[in-house]
Amino acid sequence: MSDSQARISPQEAWKRLADGNARFVEGRPNHPNQDATRRESLAEGQNPFAVIFGCSDSRLAAEIIFDLGLGDTFVVRTAGQVLSSASLGSLEYSVAELDVPLMVVLGHDSCGAVTAANQSYDSGDMPPGFVRNLVEEIMPAVIETRRSTGDDASLNDMVRTNTRQVAERMIDQSKVISAAVEENRTAVVGMFYNLRDGKAELVFSSHDLDS
Ligand SMILES: [Zn+2]
Repeated sequence: MSDSQARISPQEAWKRLADGNARFVEGRPNHPNQDATRRESLAEGQNPFAVIFGCSDSRLAAEIIFDLGLGDTFVVRTAGQVLSSASLGSLEYSVAELDVPLMVVLGHDSCGAVTAANQSYDSGDMPPGFVRNLVEEIMPAVIETRRSTGDDASLNDMVRTNTRQVAERMIDQSKVISAAVEENRTAVVGMFYNLRDGKAELVFSSHDLDS
């Protein structure tokens, strides 16, 4: 097993992710693990060091913004990164089967799904079809933020609240995830991504990641 395939600690995984984002922000990405050798080495199996559960927004491409490549991250995305039986099942799979040391919930500024939830709060009208489910899942974050900050609460604060709530709910609702967190096999972090400068800031962490 090569170094790139050995299991790393949650703290090492965090450093790798943060370093990759720093390279992307500076405009000096390495584009690692994207060649034919890497592709062939992964044909028999994968051992990603993180699962990234982010918004589907086209500007939030996980491997690009963290400067990663093939086999590095297991990625789950929905608009507004909302939990559902399918997204929770995918997240549990990454922990139970792939043993990922780091789980990342990734929100971003100006999120369209959070904007829709905030508009529904004001109008009292829910969007049609299955977009309604997204809005219902995000609404607790809109309510918490507006109750604590007032009606002029910023959309980006709602995104931060939603990101933290999703991270907490993920641990709370999944026995597989909460057991991995308690045993220190996996850390859960929430991050807020800035579309303009590309920087991902920490807004929630289940563990001290700098030690
Ligand atoms: Zn979004």
